[in-house]
Formats: sequence, structure tokens, C-alpha cells
Amino acid sequence: NGSTVFSTSSPDTLAQQRAKLAQHLAIETALHEALQTGQLYLLYQPIVDIASGALHGVEALIRWHRPDGETVPPDVFIPIAEQSHLIIDIGRWVLGQALRDLALLQRSGLAALKIHVNMAASEFTSSALPQMLRTMSAELAVPPSQVVLELTESMLMRQPEQVKRVMHQLRDIGFEISLDDFGMGHSSLAMLKSLPISSLKIDRSFVRDLPTGERDRAIAQTIVGLGQHLQLEVIAEGIESAEQRAVLADCGCRFGQGWLLGRPLPLQGLIAAFPNGRPR
Ligand code: C2E
Ligand code: MG
Ligand code: MG
Ligand code: MG
Repeated sequence: NGSTVFSTSSPDTLAQQRAKLAQHLAIETALHEALQTGQLYLLYQPIVDIASGALHGVEALIRWHRPDGETVPPDVFIPIAEQSHLIIDIGRWVLGQALRDLALLQRSGLAALKIHVNMAASEFTSSALPQMLRTMSAELAVPPSQVVLELTESMLMRQPEQVKRVMHQLRDIGFEISLDDFGMGHSSLAMLKSLPISSLKIDRSFVRDLPTGERDRAIAQTIVGLGQHLQLEVIAEGIESAEQRAVLADCGCRFGQGWLLGRPLPLQGLIAAFPNGRPR
């Protein structure tokens, strides 16, 4: 990847490498305890119909509240968890919590809502995932069609055949699959054609410079067109301004997510902010 070539930072010294490793180990140990002692929780960010503002779904976003009061963002601890077996345990906890919350949403007047859950690569290469999810959704009586698993393009590259097999098994049960951060990775159109996915999420980096970024607008328009032709739902990420929202609506983008439309909220806050699925 190009960033390595143009990186201005020099390689780590041995001491820096050691410090990093020690920090990783410390986080890993603390994270293990966090999982056991309930320091992890989920926030839900609204995914709305861009034109009407009506709630279409929610994305579960994990948070880690440490006993020292610090909140660690997932970009920091998920990559570390991914280097060990911890990600499997965390992933199972996230799925269980998200599905329990979906059952709750169904009893709160938000019955048709979809719940998006971010997946790590190693969760998706595990052949145990489809069966585990099938059991979970049956036990909680939530329909698989309301559970959307998000994965990124880079996850498709690691073990494409295995990932594809798991995707098909999940789809056969009825779960949906969404391609997250679309446009940032290396997925080919051939892959898009053959993968059983139901939605694309336009990466935030293409939304950031709208409305003035002509190239970004062209990219957004192209992804929307691609979605229409392939019958995929398209969701724009990172909508922060009314202008961005207007341009995306203009491009025909149906769904969106971002600070403008709703911050990630605890479940009860979400329910309160969208009575009957309409923004308050
Ligand atoms: P993602 O799946 O692409 O999630 C979207 C990120 O963008 C979230 O960051 C969200 O808070 C942020 N965001 C939403 N709207 C806006 C906006 O308008 N402006 C800006 N600047 N940011 C916005 P967050 O919660 O820090 O999550 C970061 C990443 O961590 C996620 O990216 C996802 O890849 C990963 N992640 C989060 N939760 C989980 C989880 O339960 N499991 C796994 N494996 N990964 C997770
Ligand atoms: Mg996501
Ligand atoms: Mg994303
Ligand atoms: Mg992301």
C-alpha cells in the first residue's frame, strides 16, 4: 500500500517496538478483564432515510469504558483484539448483545428496524459463525432478515473462498450482509457481482468534501448507480452537514448515517430520539 512508500515517519527503533508490544499486551490483558466484568457496551447510531429522516436501521458500535474513567475507541482496541483469540469472544458478546437489543426494539414500536453489526475478519472466516447466529436468533426470536453483518473489502481478500462460503451460508439462513467503507479497499467489480451482499456503505472519505468536491460527487453518484443496477441498498457514511445530505439526496442515495442525522446513542436514548421511528 502506498502509504508505506510515502510515509515520512522512520521505522520504529527496537526500544519503540518493545514499548509497543508491552502496550499491546497490557491492553490485551485489560480487555480480557473488560469482557469478563462488563466494561464493554454498545451504542447505536441511526441509519435513516435521507429524504424523510425516518429511521431505517441502527449500527451497533462498541465502546470500552475503563475503570479509570477513560473510554477507549474501537479503532484502538479492536485491531489489538484481532491479533488474538479475544476477538472471537468479543464478537460473540457483541452479537449476543445486539440481538437481545433488537428483541427489545421490537417491543418498543420499532419492529421493522435492521440492526447492523461490524464483524472482524477472523469471525467471518470461522465456519462456526452461521450456526451460532442461527441458534442465537432462534433463541431470541429475532428474524435473521433484520440482522445485517458489516464487513470491509479488505476482509474479503484474506481468505476469499472461505469468506464467500460463510457469506452464502449466512444468506441461506436469511441474514443480510453489507460492505462497509466501500471504495477504500480492493474489491473488484467481479467480486461484487458474485458476492451475496445486500448493501454498500459509501466510505466517509467520499462524503467529507461534498458539496464542493466534484470528484467525490462523481464517485458518490457512481456508487449509487452501481447499487441501483445491482439492486443493493446504498448507505452514505459520515453525513455531517445539510449540504452533504442535499447532494447525496440529489445523487439518489436513499440512506445515510452521520452526526447530522444522529450520533451513536445508548439503546434507550435511541428509542427516545425516534418515537415510532420518526426523529423527535
Ligand atoms: P465503521 O463501521 O465504519 O463505523 C463508523 C464510524 O464512523 C464510527 O466510529 C462512528 O462513530 C463514526 N461516525 C459516524 N458518523 C460520523 C460522522 O458524521 N463524522 C465522523 N467523523 N464520524 C462518524 P467508531 O464508533 O469509533 O468505530 C470505528 C470503527 O471500529 C468502525 O468503523 C468499525 O470498523 C469498528 N467497530 C466498531 N464497533 C465494532 C464491533 O462491535 N466489532 C468490530 N469488529 N468492529 C467494530
Ligand atoms: Mg460499520
Ligand atoms: Mg464504515
Ligand atoms: Mg470504518
